[in-house]
Amino acid sequence: MHLPTPLIKVLRTTEEQKKALARLGIISIHDLLYHFPVRYSSLTQTRLVQDLEHGQTVTLYGRIHKLSAKKSWTTKRPMGQGELTDINGDTIKVVWFNQPYIAKMLKENQSVKLTGTINKNARGLALSNPEIEQVPDMPIDAHGSLFTTENGTEHFGYPVYAETRGLSSKWVYHAVQKVLTQELLNSLEDPIPEHILKKYNLPSIATALVWIHLPQKKSDADAARKRFAFEEIFLIQVKKQQARFQYEALYTHTIGIDQQKLGDFIARFPFALTSAQQSAIDTIVRDLESPKPMSRLLEGDVGSGKTAIAASITHGIVTNQPKGQSYGNLQVAYMAPTEVLATQLFESFVNYFENTGIQIALITGSGCRKYPSKVGHQPWTDISATQLKKWIKNGEVPIVIGTHALISKTLSFKHLALVIVDEQHRFGTKQRMELAQKAGSSPHYLSMTATPIPRTLALTIYGDLDLSVLDSMPPGRKPVETHIVAPNKREQVYSEIQKGLDAGRQLYVICPRIISPHADNPLTESEWQELTPMARKALQLKSVTSEAKHLQEKVFPKHVVGIMHSKMTKLEKERVMKKFASHEIDILVANSVIEVGVNVPNATMIIIEGAERYGLAQLHQLRGRVIRSTHQAQCWLFADIVSEITQNRLGAFIKAKNGFELAELDLALRGTGDLAGIKQWGISDIAMEAIKNIKLVEAAREEARTLIYNDPRLENFPELAKIIASEKFEMHFE
Ligand code: ADP
Ligand code: MG
Repeated sequence: MHLPTPLIKVLRTTEEQKKALARLGIISIHDLLYHFPVRYSSLTQTRLVQDLEHGQTVTLYGRIHKLSAKKSWTTKRPMGQGELTDINGDTIKVVWFNQPYIAKMLKENQSVKLTGTINKNARGLALSNPEIEQVPDMPIDAHGSLFTTENGTEHFGYPVYAETRGLSSKWVYHAVQKVLTQELLNSLEDPIPEHILKKYNLPSIATALVWIHLPQKKSDADAARKRFAFEEIFLIQVKKQQARFQYEALYTHTIGIDQQKLGDFIARFPFALTSAQQSAIDTIVRDLESPKPMSRLLEGDVGSGKTAIAASITHGIVTNQPKGQSYGNLQVAYMAPTEVLATQLFESFVNYFENTGIQIALITGSGCRKYPSKVGHQPWTDISATQLKKWIKNGEVPIVIGTHALISKTLSFKHLALVIVDEQHRFGTKQRMELAQKAGSSPHYLSMTATPIPRTLALTIYGDLDLSVLDSMPPGRKPVETHIVAPNKREQVYSEIQKGLDAGRQLYVICPRIISPHADNPLTESEWQELTPMARKALQLKSVTSEAKHLQEKVFPKHVVGIMHSKMTKLEKERVMKKFASHEIDILVANSVIEVGVNVPNATMIIIEGAERYGLAQLHQLRGRVIRSTHQAQCWLFADIVSEITQNRLGAFIKAKNGFELAELDLALRGTGDLAGIKQWGISDIAMEAIKNIKLVEAAREEARTLIYNDPRLENFPELAKIIASEKFEMHFE
């Protein structure tokens, strides 16, 4: 048995289990061993039925049965009831007043953990309105395994693994026991270099695997979790640092930025730069003048003025000549995620570069443009892609703005010196290396994003980039008026919106997706299945299509309502967005897919339904859709569940002005689950815990950097080299 051995070779599995394992991505022994318990369940704290007394608040484990829903014979109110049998076989009655559906949610004979208060009445003791947690059956046959303690002392707890259809926690527990043999442990090579383990006092891989799957002490479990969190962050960092090292080793254009010319260009803007913009430009200029290619991420809220920075830097680059030439110019490629955005950027650049004589091209799937135009009344001309590609290839057109078409195989640059990408999280090192290879040198690289993520996460997923943050906004912006709306005030809000629509403004309505047993769903499939129809209905949130129909027919019949959601194709979405931008649509009902950075200045109103379901940073991003205008923008938050916690969170949202602050707040308040687009980063839950710990993240980054700069190919660390070169690792993080 080795880590890469497929599980099906060593374990007997049914078809259903095979499917469940595949769903969890568990293929090899390695995968199984890295499928960590979500918690440990301690038997020692359990109370027994025989010891219970009236008035106690207790936690009981056992099996639940005799479930029924009926009316209380005294008050006639509906109630659910059942009976719990504990490990000794003693039983106690359980009642849920006013919650008859709970009896239907549970299965007969299911293992549960109940926490509630003991009451005594004429017929004996009963547990009233307990909280319920479904628990896997306790493993009772731990003898003879590695997990048995030598002195027979009690374990800290049994591991509880996340369950999925067809795969119980108990099954995983036994599978882990089976594969985690002494022989396997002895053969393990630690991917973390020993000196690093020592320095941070981390357990070895063999120790950590035992400790995480069946710890004897809480401190062992904690140490193991810390180790695996560090391991994952460290591996990502090593990969990123290595990629950066390779990128930097390639030839790049050295740039000399003429401060005078740069200043003259900036003076052309109809505004003065903010100090945040100025210092970002200074940092970038320093990067460009160093002999290594720049790799920088610029984070700044929507509207913080990233385009002006991009334009200034672009101007600085294209007024440079290729090395050893006294003619010609270096080139810049600026990539946006959608056609709408690319076109908007092109138009901004045309403004910023007016009368400079510098040519700018736009290239998207549906057509190409070139500025300036020699004929006609428009500042630009439509041209054929073939013609444009020729001009880009011979270096004649210095600035090219576009969508993914920019990195198509048929497009090549003569002297590509800078690549700027806007909101392109998937444009990673691999794509950059491809561009560099095509160009024969490493272009400088500037990535820009308004996606608010905490610093620790940015340092991890963008480990190969240096980080700059634009922390202030241009002056004079009116903050968006934001209201948390009580359910009975809906009509009032609609009539206020009616006024806005009549005045010619536009409205976004954001709906959470319908809860369905699919991805992005806070409920697991089995949880969903176990809900009663009533409970399901309560959880059924406003959906894009039904809400659009309702608004069109019942609320704003005079106006045109359009929809946009994540099930639509990119092309369909772009079409709708174009219609909204040209005001053929007054009200756009959408889920959170509205592209970041889309600029519809006339849309000054936004409703967010089910606001409590969003992270604060995500709410901030959604609200960012309406800050473009000179008109006062307004945002209304409708929350379905208005608990005190929700109130406090939304209250914090109203006060905060900076998305990055909100991302940190999300992380502190609710963990990483709320961070925007968290799933796409491919980081495990355990590493996400580590994202809360800036020291750990910085340590992993520093160690990885030192390691790579001393031994770029990791010749002294073959195990580490093997892991980060593996296909699986590539797939995960590119
Ligand atoms: P983003 O960071 O979202 O890309 P933009 O670059 O599109 O922001 O800028 C948003 C708006 O702010 C634009 O209309 C731009 O002209 C304006 N702007 C940018 N910088 C400043 C500034 N320093 N002072 C005033 N307005 C500015
Ligand atoms: Mg922008």
